[in-house]
Amino acid sequence: MATTPGPTRWLFGDQLGPHFLGDTESPGDDGEQPVVLIESRKVFTRRRFHRQKAHLILSAMRHRAAELGDRCTYLRTDTYGEGLARLPKKALPLSVCSPTSRQAEDLVRSLDGSGDLPAVEVLPARGYATPREDFRRWADGTRQLLMEDFYRRARRAHDVLMDGAEPVGGQWNLDHENREPPPKGADDLGLPHPWMPEEDEIDEEVRADLDRWEADGDVSFVGRDGPRAFAASRTEALAALDDFVDHRLPAFGPHEDAILEGDEWMAHSMLSAPMNLGLLDPLECVDRAERAYRDGDAPLASVEGYVRQLIGWRDYIWHVYWYAGSDYTRRNALEAHEPLPQWFWDLDADAVEARCLSHALRGVRDRGWVHHIPRLMVLGNYALQRGWDPGELTRWFQRSFVDGYDWVMAANVVGMSQHADGGLMATKPYASGGAYINRMSDHCRGCRYKPTVRVGEDACPFTAGYWWFLDRNAKRLEGNFRMKRALDGRHRLKDLEDLVVQERERGSEAP
Ligand SMILES: Cc1cc2nc3c(=O)[nH]c(=O)nc-3n(C[C@H](O)[C@H](O)[C@H](O)COP(=O)(O)OP(=O)(O)OC[C@H]3O[C@@H](n4cnc5c(N)ncnc54)[C@H](O)[C@@H]3O)c2cc1C
Ligand code: SF4
Repeated sequence: MATTPGPTRWLFGDQLGPHFLGDTESPGDDGEQPVVLIESRKVFTRRRFHRQKAHLILSAMRHRAAELGDRCTYLRTDTYGEGLARLPKKALPLSVCSPTSRQAEDLVRSLDGSGDLPAVEVLPARGYATPREDFRRWADGTRQLLMEDFYRRARRAHDVLMDGAEPVGGQWNLDHENREPPPKGADDLGLPHPWMPEEDEIDEEVRADLDRWEADGDVSFVGRDGPRAFAASRTEALAALDDFVDHRLPAFGPHEDAILEGDEWMAHSMLSAPMNLGLLDPLECVDRAERAYRDGDAPLASVEGYVRQLIGWRDYIWHVYWYAGSDYTRRNALEAHEPLPQWFWDLDADAVEARCLSHALRGVRDRGWVHHIPRLMVLGNYALQRGWDPGELTRWFQRSFVDGYDWVMAANVVGMSQHADGGLMATKPYASGGAYINRMSDHCRGCRYKPTVRVGEDACPFTAGYWWFLDRNAKRLEGNFRMKRALDGRHRLKDLEDLVVQERERGSEAP
């Protein structure tokens, strides 16, 4: 029996999968519900985005509109308000799933039918595994927001990788089997090239529009244009998921943290961009991964590692954004106030000689994507060491990455990477010297600096930067017992004074 279509669903550009349609009890596209999509030009004029990010978002929205055909009213306007005011009567009433930024949430909640704009019914958020109220209940009742505790609860609640009440294999966490350095002497992991989309006439139209907007001076971008590398439709996202589970998931765990210059994707899923566009639901990805394990196609360590990223880390980051309050992104516990240098804003990889940093910046410039470790241990680590302002760095990450959205920035950048929340997210700062990068990558052997050298021409800016960071922040970190050994360690350095002078001089110049 055909169901009655509900109110028209207003979809934001990151709510593009079938699970953003239908009612709260049984989300899913019933093939009937009318839809409104508003392409707001202001989103692209307000911030200078990576060219490939702007392309991906527009391509995904227009692909969704094409899929929905006559069911979709697609508006191209300057602002959301202008789009809503232009909606024909037959498109009302409207409902929307709670959006992913505070700004958008404030907007939809303000729409109560007074004034010129229509009222909008706001439904709970979708696209995350744990509902917001469940997180709040847990967080209110716990002393420390430990990700590991949250993750175990989610495993139980969704019955993922469980044997009754116990985790499959008897352990919740198989990190000790993962996180290996790259294979010795290898240039790549030897995996098949990941699935890539084929651009179509929608991409052609998007490219022409972006070229025109840029030529007209309406918008400007960072980064280079290039063939679209990430899924922009549900069909593409499912193909990318299949490809990952079949060819890369088995190798995901062991080299999760490793970097090889000749292997930009390693065994990563590259699914954050389509997932953050709402094209995939994390639980369906978890389900596919678990099936691969149960069928004997992928080892438990890799599958557990991947599941942890999704219903653990991704959800946790989402919830901290809402739970920690709107001033979280303004926190600056280490009082880091240096502005980001222009070469960094411009993604000028060629200005940088430090091989690890140049390589990471090149990845961002050319693709708008590098994996977790270059983000955390190269780009974020360098910013932390140099005392760059965490708010500015947050804006940099958000605009430069194809998968960057407001919600994902707060806890990842302000919390995890910059320790600007004073330790809510991580018990100690993710600061490390060249030794870590040397162990986990093949960068150092071709670099003009040496990871073991602290002072002089060959001094590695990460190694020297690490000690400078500790020395500069010694007072602020002295109460943290996990930092005691590192802080004490600096007193054993005979060249500490010279090092501090050298690094002050280097400051934020391209190393
Ligand atoms: C400083 C910094 C900035 C980051 N910025 C973003 C960002 O803008 N957007 C983004 O989606 N992720 C971000 N991350 C998290 C993580 O680096 C990316 O999700 C991941 O690299 C995306 O590549 P992938 O899909 O191949 O991930 P995989 O390595 O295949 O991981 C699997 C999935 O887990 C999820 N995930 C894992 N860790 C996180 C996390 N910490 N936060 C959110 N999701 C996570 C992603 O959906 C990802 O697709 C950031 C991390 C750091 C330290
Ligand atoms: S020597 Fe230092 S700067 Fe060069 S690649 Fe290694 S860690 Fe990076």
